[in-house]
Amino acid sequence: MKHLVKSAIHGLYKYSGAMSAQEHLAFWSGRRFMSVTLFHRVTDAIPPDGLTVTTAWFREFCQLMRDRFNVVPLAEVHRILMTGATPPPRTVAITFDDCYRDNLFAARVLAEHGLPATFFIPTQYVGTEHVFPWDHDLPRMPNLDWRDTREMQRLGHEIGSHSVSHPDFGTIGPDEARRELAESKRILEDLLQTPVRWFAYPFGGKSNFRPAYLPLVHELGYDACFSAYNGFIEPSLRGKILPREAMPYFRSIGHLELHLSGCLDWVYRCKSRVGLLGV
Ligand SMILES: [Zn+2]
Repeated sequence: MKHLVKSAIHGLYKYSGAMSAQEHLAFWSGRRFMSVTLFHRVTDAIPPDGLTVTTAWFREFCQLMRDRFNVVPLAEVHRILMTGATPPPRTVAITFDDCYRDNLFAARVLAEHGLPATFFIPTQYVGTEHVFPWDHDLPRMPNLDWRDTREMQRLGHEIGSHSVSHPDFGTIGPDEARRELAESKRILEDLLQTPVRWFAYPFGGKSNFRPAYLPLVHELGYDACFSAYNGFIEPSLRGKILPREAMPYFRSIGHLELHLSGCLDWVYRCKSRVGLLGV
């Protein structure tokens, strides 16, 4: 029932023209933001969960992105952020974490729609039988191998570092952090023969990364560091840890479009004011 009411509100919002009017107003009043979306798995082998979307949902997502958003590589998000340029409305970059093998399918569907993406990979797990601890109760979720990553590159996508062994950067010491950052970059650059500019730290929460490691990320040659907590990319975040929007949270594409267009910000503000959690 709640879902039906939500869908009805999203439909009304969209087709009444309110969404477009609100977006124009926000743009002309100087509001500037971009989004980076975050996926883990795209598969029908298990039901949707906090890390998983279905293949049908993903195809709808790709159509929405192609038809109604300005999808760019991370390098463009970074350039706009660092130069202070004005991002076109609805500028979005697409990312994936953790090297699940279904990401190759996603990479192909994205390419069919002309959409670039970045895949963040923990190098130690590529081409192995490794199962992440949180997946032990699930059917086997295979990992990408290096041939898959090269196909992704040929499709126009990019590979980023997600460390070597997927440790929690909130608990490891500086020597280990340096080794994880440097080693994963070196391995990826050797195997893929291209510079690796982006790092996404494992687990992605605020407590899973020590602020003191951000200068280290830059010192070791990365241009930006991504988390997994949500938020838009706004000018105030230049040089800081960048947020991403986890896609499995949005069961309806209508809800996702409203969110990424910035139209729900007032709802979130109201909710946080009255202390309601979740949306
Ligand atoms: Zn991860």
